[in-house]
Amino acid sequence: MKYVSSRNNQTEVPASIALIKGLCEDGGLYTPILEDKRFDLEELLNKDYKGLAYEIISYFLDDLDKDKLKKAIDLAYDSKFDDQEITPLNILGDLSILELWHGRTCAFKDVALSLLPYLLQLAYEKNGLQQKLSILTATSGDTGKAALEAFADVKHTYITVFYPEIGVSDIQKLQMATSIGNNVEVIAVKGNFDDCQRLVKKAYSDKDILQGLDDVILSSANSINIGRLVPQIVYYFYAYLKLVKEKQIQLSEEIDFFVPTGNFGDILAGYLAKKCGLPIHKLICASNSNNILTDFLHQGSYDLHRPFYTTMSPSMDILISSNLERLLYFVLKDSDKVSSLMKQMDENGIYELDEKTLSKIQDDFDSFYASEENCAETIRKYFFEKHVLIDPHAAVACHAYERYKEETKNERKAVVLSTASPFKFSSDVLHALGKQESDPFKAMEKLSDLSGCKIPQSLSELKDLPIRFDKAIEIDEGMDAIKNRLKEINNA
Ligand SMILES: *Cc1c(COP(=O)(O)O)cnc(C)c1O
Repeated sequence: MKYVSSRNNQTEVPASIALIKGLCEDGGLYTPILEDKRFDLEELLNKDYKGLAYEIISYFLDDLDKDKLKKAIDLAYDSKFDDQEITPLNILGDLSILELWHGRTCAFKDVALSLLPYLLQLAYEKNGLQQKLSILTATSGDTGKAALEAFADVKHTYITVFYPEIGVSDIQKLQMATSIGNNVEVIAVKGNFDDCQRLVKKAYSDKDILQGLDDVILSSANSINIGRLVPQIVYYFYAYLKLVKEKQIQLSEEIDFFVPTGNFGDILAGYLAKKCGLPIHKLICASNSNNILTDFLHQGSYDLHRPFYTTMSPSMDILISSNLERLLYFVLKDSDKVSSLMKQMDENGIYELDEKTLSKIQDDFDSFYASEENCAETIRKYFFEKHVLIDPHAAVACHAYERYKEETKNERKAVVLSTASPFKFSSDVLHALGKQESDPFKAMEKLSDLSGCKIPQSLSELKDLPIRFDKAIEIDEGMDAIKNRLKEINNA
């Protein structure tokens, strides 16, 4: 499998290099050149999560040592997950909820990030590298903690997380501020996620940033790294095969997936699954009030001239959706064209697709958005009518499901990706259910009493952990913060 920059298709690299670099030097994203591979679903049917993960990941990351990869998958998907199935599927009739939050930090980011340190280690071995690895991460709330947890005290590796000071939930903030490990740094930025992501991306394409630092390599734990995307393909297959095994669908019957979307990473993993033969009818992109993607998928115009909202689904409060660039590359098959669109976005804050390209995208994608009221209403409806407790992100996707069903009246089976534990957002969930409690820990207790669901231990124990990180910086102090941190790492 070869990977090229979405902005320059002359830059082929193997998977291990794409993993280590994270982002291309030209600012583009490493994108796999897909051959006509179709996984044999029947053959995959009897595999457990790890077996499935091995088949899919070893196909995409084909230059990593196969035996070591298998061991890595065993180590990543162990008792860190509180469910043996890793991503259990809750079948509620035509609709199923894929629970992706059974890892340590209670968000779907754990699925890929539990494995990423091992993948980077194998990529390092493959290329005989010795330098220290510095991972810069921008987070809208969940990636940060999942990455801090995964990389804490990993040898020769240092992790730095930038998160928006306002917007992340109290629990998300506490999760990051109490992180352990001697190799971690957490910095709040007085801006939003887009500011954090812009900062980190700028560091990758800044040719001078590593000047004089000969013992450091930069990489990324964001979904701009293919090491994040590839492990996420696995659970699309897992959910589908589970429906087959449970006799909900026939092998090869098409289904729809509803994905709460921010940086377009999770849903792009679904697109890659479809490209490799998973019978997906449509991938439905669900947005919150920051509905730039919904507008784009309907009208073909990506327009940043709009307000930024902080919502109760903060991990989707994003306007510059990075992985969309990969989709553009797949559809346009022309890196010059992608490059020019991205330039238009940087310079004018807007780009437009021609009708043919838009309609090609619409063959695979549909989209809906949920207002804050829609989101709360959906949490309420699902709890009282379907007896399932969902978090605000999953609620955005469930709302999309309800709308889609209403509009298309189709009978296809559907899977909603449930991306976070409701206990991460207890106050908002409780509020949606008609109860008030602003203290996040009391809110967890009340939510647990009301629902009968257990509070994940990693969340309840936050209450007693000491705060280690409370640094907050202005946006324009960001590059200096990165430079200082890299110097520190180089000299460590
Ligand atoms: C990150 C995140 C999302 C959005 O995922 P993308 O890959 O950025 O589209 C949705 N829900 C939750 C809970 C998240 O943490």
